[in-house]
Amino acid sequence: MGKADLHIHTVYSDGSSSIEEVLHKSLAEGLDTIAITDHNEIEGAVKARELAERWGFNINVIIGEEITTSDGHVVGLFLKNRIRPLLTAEATVDEIHRQGGLAVAVHPFSVWLKLFKCGGVGTLVERLQFDAIETVNGSLTEGFSNVFTQKFNSKLRLAGVGGSDAHTPEAIGQGYTVFPGRGSVMLYSAIRNKTVQAQSGRSAGKALWDFLMKYLWGKMALYGPKGGAIDQMATS
Ligand SMILES: [Zn+2]
Ligand SMILES: [Zn+2]
Repeated sequence: MGKADLHIHTVYSDGSSSIEEVLHKSLAEGLDTIAITDHNEIEGAVKARELAERWGFNINVIIGEEITTSDGHVVGLFLKNRIRPLLTAEATVDEIHRQGGLAVAVHPFSVWLKLFKCGGVGTLVERLQFDAIETVNGSLTEGFSNVFTQKFNSKLRLAGVGGSDAHTPEAIGQGYTVFPGRGSVMLYSAIRNKTVQAQSGRSAGKALWDFLMKYLWGKMALYGPKGGAIDQMATS
């Protein structure tokens, strides 16, 4: 079986991972295929593919892009050229297909991301010609909307894919897709044939816990009153 992380950001958009870090961490996670999906940008993906080939890394890099459409985020995989942002989701999906790529409705029902105006396409996923839906998004905030998306897709029956949505090297592999065979060509067929399976690198409960620990606990430790929980923990 192949193992692919289909949603990775780098320093070429808002991620902190260099291309080198992405490749090293991906190998360490046992991924044979990755898609670099920077926001409205494919330069990092192109660089990653060149570097993987030059270094002889046993890893296939798919040129992807997470496109900001007027209806929410859409990922294009197997792209040839950058697609400009702020088209409608429908026009974006058409352009992905014109390039021979696959269109993925990523985090379609994310409540959290929607608050920051970077949600997904919602129920448009039913009406447009998407090739896949992201039923596992590895972000700390997405544990519960993943469950909703999986339930939604049990009727829709699109190919369900997983990706980490990693913005740091550590997060790579927190969501992934398994498929028969190995490498990007087999993955392409597996998405078309709906023989892919989305997997989570963490449980929904663990995701929430991590989130609370990282943000709330961290804030308390930094800004809480002297003698707060962190201080008590340190002395007990
Ligand atoms: Zn997004
Ligand atoms: Zn993303």
